[in-house]
Amino acid sequence: MARKNTQKVYGKPKGPYRQKSVKKRIQAIFLDNLGKVLTREQIIEAATDPDSGRQPENWHQRLSELRTDDGYTILSWRNRGDLKVQEYLMPHKRKRGGAGKRVRPTDATWMAVLKRAGCACEWNEGGMVCGLNDGENDPVGGGRVKLTPDHKNPHSLNPDADPKDPEQWQALCGRHQVTKKNYWDTTTGKLNTYAIVQFASEAEKREVFHFLLRYFGYTILKDGNIRRQET
Ligand SMILES: [Zn+2]
Repeated sequence: MARKNTQKVYGKPKGPYRQKSVKKRIQAIFLDNLGKVLTREQIIEAATDPDSGRQPENWHQRLSELRTDDGYTILSWRNRGDLKVQEYLMPHKRKRGGAGKRVRPTDATWMAVLKRAGCACEWNEGGMVCGLNDGENDPVGGGRVKLTPDHKNPHSLNPDADPKDPEQWQALCGRHQVTKKNYWDTTTGKLNTYAIVQFASEAEKREVFHFLLRYFGYTILKDGNIRRQET
């Protein structure tokens, strides 16, 4: 596999972006720059409220929603080796089917979950409960704790998630929502291998890459090309 000379092209905002919401403004700058690299600064500038000039704190969460709820593909350094940290790229404007159907608990269910949780994160690791309260500072991850609902079994495995059953939901802080992505299922401890590799460091990714090449019977030649081993 020769390193392809895919030139990294940086995008240019075509704003001003006057869309009503932070998410719509971020969507607009990406659609204006398909296949081009956008930097964190460019995205924040586009996301800034055009009237008040206020920079949104939550721009990264809105960007995540464009992926998870709207089904857009937005690559970062985690998915593409030539992107640097805080660089993002939307390769095309196709949306994944089935996105946006994420089930959420009803308001009543979420109130019941928060009551059970004592308004604290319910993440449990080997009997140790996180217990951070909504609104307090996270001493590990920094920032203010915001509890959000998590379905205990991921929807990909359980399409019948019941928005009315508090037992199927838990309250998690932001840091543990991220940790949760490493598990398909926190009740059985089944790991989400793809997510773990995606969030691993470059050195670890390289190790996995070489392992997979060996596993599937390929070798890397001196010139960087990959060849299937003769049997
Ligand atoms: Zn937590």
